[in-house]
Amino acid sequence: MDRRKRGAVVVSLAQTKSSVVQLRTGSLHGGLLEALRELINHGDLSPGARVPERELCARFSISRTPLREALKVLAAEGLIQLLPNRGARVATLDDSHLTELFEVIGILEAEAGRLACARMSDAAIAEVQALHYRMYAHFLREELPEYFALNQAIHQAILDGSANTVLIATYRNLAGRIVRARYMSNRLRPDRWKAAIDEHELILEALVRRDADRLASILSRHLANKRDIIMEHIHEELRGRMEKTKSRQQRMSHAETPPAVAEPAAE
Ligand SMILES: [Zn+2]
Repeated sequence: MDRRKRGAVVVSLAQTKSSVVQLRTGSLHGGLLEALRELINHGDLSPGARVPERELCARFSISRTPLREALKVLAAEGLIQLLPNRGARVATLDDSHLTELFEVIGILEAEAGRLACARMSDAAIAEVQALHYRMYAHFLREELPEYFALNQAIHQAILDGSANTVLIATYRNLAGRIVRARYMSNRLRPDRWKAAIDEHELILEALVRRDADRLASILSRHLANKRDIIMEHIHEELRGRMEKTKSRQQRMSHAETPPAVAEPAAE
């Protein structure tokens, strides 16, 4: 997959140059899903935005039917909301639901770490170590997509190291719903990115020592920090939206022609 370095700005779909996913022939459905997930998770389609169906059909050279099928799957995953009049909207990152998700994911992550300390082979731990150093190199070069992919790989390796298939499946189901939020939390705050790398140093250290309690506690702190940043971002976004509405209303009241009807808020 060709992924180029991305700036810190959310760009519109039309301007997106990076992470264009080539649809592989033979697995159109899966490829399309993956492509759409990536557009949502990387913020190219932003929370609350309408899904530009015509544009997506043109971009992926597909008809409406497979796109609608894919959208139904994404709706079941909680990434988008289907609208009654056939349209679709990217799901917003809802506060209370996110909090609940993070609580459960945190428990699973910590427990996976605990089990991994007892069950992972030395070779598997050495692999995590290698992933960590590659990730660190991408951090230094500020290559977020590559960093993010390796970060996910590390968390996945620890999860697999738990050797508990029920835990792994449950985790996968829940974590898929917060990939976008996790990605966003790194994109938004460079200082948080540095802190995350430091935490990963500690994660590696605890794993190498097979210190189960310590790894469990670092993993849950690591996740809690991410959650806080994400919540902060959601609240900032809300404030920004409210201020926009307020200034629009002020402009209306100062307009030369008296507004006969107050403009309803756009959102
Ligand atoms: Zn991490």
